Order: sequence, then C-alpha cells, then structure tokens
Amino acid sequence: MRYVSTRGQAPELSFEDVVLAGLASDGGLYVPKTIPTFSMAEIAAMGSLNYADLAYKIIAPFTGGEIAPDALKKIIDDSYAQFRHSAVAPLKQLDAHTFVLELFHGPTLAFKDFALQFLGRLLDHILQKRGQKAVIVGATSGDTGSAAIAGCRARSNMSIFILHPKGRVSDVQRKQMTTVLDSNVHNIAVEGTFDDCQDIVKTLFNDKNFRAETPITAVNSINWARILAQVVYYFYSALALGAPAKAVSFCVPTGNFGDIYAGYIAKRMGLPINQLIIATNRNDILSRCVATGTYGMNGVSPTISPSMDIQISSNFERLLFDLHDRDGGGINRMMNNFREAKSLTLSPLVHSRLKAEFAAASANDDETKNTIAETFAATGELLDPHTAVGLCAAHKARADNTTPLVLLATAHPAKFPDAVTAASGVHPALPAHLADLFSREERLDELPCDATAIKKFIQGRG
Ligand SMILES: *Cc1c(COP(=O)(O)O)cnc(C)c1O
Repeated sequence: MRYVSTRGQAPELSFEDVVLAGLASDGGLYVPKTIPTFSMAEIAAMGSLNYADLAYKIIAPFTGGEIAPDALKKIIDDSYAQFRHSAVAPLKQLDAHTFVLELFHGPTLAFKDFALQFLGRLLDHILQKRGQKAVIVGATSGDTGSAAIAGCRARSNMSIFILHPKGRVSDVQRKQMTTVLDSNVHNIAVEGTFDDCQDIVKTLFNDKNFRAETPITAVNSINWARILAQVVYYFYSALALGAPAKAVSFCVPTGNFGDIYAGYIAKRMGLPINQLIIATNRNDILSRCVATGTYGMNGVSPTISPSMDIQISSNFERLLFDLHDRDGGGINRMMNNFREAKSLTLSPLVHSRLKAEFAAASANDDETKNTIAETFAATGELLDPHTAVGLCAAHKARADNTTPLVLLATAHPAKFPDAVTAASGVHPALPAHLADLFSREERLDELPCDATAIKKFIQGRG
C-alpha cells in the first residue's frame, strides 16, 4: 500500500512513513494510492464482529502488511479497551428513523479519542521498531489537547508538550489535561491567547536549528491514521442498522472535515451510504461551498460549538483531490491560489460531483440551543452543542424521513456544561469515571508568551 500527496510533488510513502510524516513535504496531505474495497458478502460477514475486531478488518488493508498482525491487533484492542461502554460506539434511538451514535465514551469524552488512542499507540510502536524517540508539540484551545495527551501518556518512546492559553480554557478542559500526571506529559499554560500559543508552535516547527536538536512532531487532524480510525464507526453503526442490505445516511458535525471525510472513505470502500450530510455552525465555509461552488474564507466567529469554529477545513483538500480526478499538479496550483485569494471557485463539473457526494446545512447558536431544548423535552436526551448543530442540520438537509439517519454525537454534554444548562435548564453530570475530576491533583507549568522560553523548557525535558 503506497500513499500519494494531494499536491503531487512529494515522494510516495509507505503506511509507517505517512504516519510519522503527518503533512507531506509539498504541503499536501497523504491519501492511499488505491482505496481497498469490500464486497457486499464481505461486509455482511462483518455484522457479528465486536468493535475492535471490526476495526482490525477495516484498518489492516491500509497498512500494507507493515505492522505485524499480532502487533496491530494489540494496538487496536488496547485503544478501544479504554472506552467505558461495552459497545464502544453505542447507538441510541431518538425517533423512528433517527439514531445518535455516541462517540463520547472514551477517556476525554469526545470522538477524537477514537483516533488519538489509536494514533498514540501506533506511533509508539513504529518508533520502538525504528529505535527512535519523538517529542510531540501542540497548541490547544481546549479539546484536541486532552485527547492527544490521553493518547500519548505513558508511551515509552514519546513525550508530549501541550500549550494552552492560561485562564482561557474551561475548567473541565484544563483539568482533563493537567490531572494526567505521567512523567512524559507536560502541560504549559502560556500567558497569552490561543493564537499566541499557535504562533509559538509554528515558530518552533519553523526553527531548523531547534528541530535539528529536538525532533518535534505534531499529531494534528491531517494525519492519515486519524482518518483511518474514524472509518470504523461508520461500518459499525451501519451494520447495526441492517447494512449492507439496507443503506443508511449520516449527519456529521464538521470542522476540519476529518470526521465526515472518513464517512466518504467508508462509502468508497463499499459501504452503502445514502446521504452524507455536512453540518456546520455559523462558520459555514463548507455549507456555502456545497450550495454555491465557491470555497471562500470569511473569518472565524466564536459560537457555542467551539470545536467547529474554523476558518478553513484542512481535510477538504483530500476530497478536492478526488473530485479533480487526482490531479496533484492541479490541486497544487489551486491551493497556492487559494492561499493568496482566500477563495476558490469549483468548475460546474466538480461542483456537481461535490453535490452528488454530500448534502450540507448549518445552524446558528439560537437554532442550536432550541435543538438542545426540544430534544430534551421530546426524548430526555441531552445533546452537546456540536451534536445539536448536527441534528438541526439533519432536519434541514435529509432527503427523506424513512432512511435510517445516524447522527454522530461528537462530544458528551458534560464537556460543555454552560451551553447545555443554559439551553435545557439541566446541568449535565460528568460520567462516573470522571466524577472526581475536580478533586484530582493538577500539574502544569506557567510560562511567558515567548518562544525562546518554551524552547528551553522543552529541551530541558524532551
Ligand atoms: C473536532 C470536533 C469536531 C469537528 O470534527 P472535524 O473532524 O474537525 O470535522 C466536532 N465536534 C467536536 C466535539 C470536536 O471535538
């Protein structure tokens, strides 16, 4: 199995090299040269598998045999053993044809655990095999940091440094990061904003001298292994609802386009999917693109679903690559123009291909709050604000009310207690395994907003 860059200028790589590389050297994203497919009979035979066994079946063909079967099986088993529900990704029924896929039973209560529990163990295995060590560095506004820490803690070949803006992440988010006391985990509270944190991380990654001494790596959302891990729950939930004999639809609260792109890959692998609905909040670059054919930046507005507050969706480039018949040179020119112009317009052919693959709708904060309140009144279920954006968009964009629709619940309501309480009048409780979160010991270092100070800190501990 070989991987190619969406911009066509970087070398083809194997699976392990793609996992280690993250971004391609030409600025593109790696995708498999060919997508493995399953026949209807093969998919039907998967119906009896538990989550981890199904994950193995789906992930193995993408590794090109580079990870020994026993090792891959153990990485996957250990990753999903961390989840607190025996079904790992349980489905809950909201009404006759609408189901919520609960992706929040992992260690940090958000779907990113599915990818980062796997990626942390996979990276550690590859590093061990090669006799290498890695220093993971990242900035977080709250959400990704905790999932990355939970995936990398206690891994023997990695240390992780996560920068967050001091006093500007919620208490739950900070505690989820700073109460992880493993010696390879370093939380840095920076005297500044999230943008300052991101700028420092960029400075570090652009500093050749620093990188020559300290080999830093990112675990960001463009890593192929993260997408791969997310393909599994599309198969899992569809099988539970009668696939492959019956097609289902999915609606996905979307930011960087990683999660819903995994659904598109599931479809390419042979899973019968009726609609794939992109749900966006006010930051609706993707919904506008599906509607108009123009992909244009509009700035970021803060919303009550902050993990979807994005300016552009990095993984969208992977889809554009396919929609342009995998013309890497063309995508390279297109993305370079986009960087200058902050906008690109699809050809009528490509726009029609996009609309054939995806529907889209968006929800503003008021609609999101109403959806939380109405769903609670009708079903007794508390949705987190991201999932509520998804349900509101599903109502707007679903083609019919009889095809089963799976709404991806990307976070537990207790992760966003203020928005949920304001909308529903009910305070969402943390699940039992985190009930004592606020009495746990915290460890963090406070550092000035200064790249040199942070470099020194990392060199002293990496
Ligand atoms: C990251 C995140 C999203 C967006 O997922 P993408 O893969 O970036 O589209 C949605 N909801 C929650 C809760 C998230 O943490």
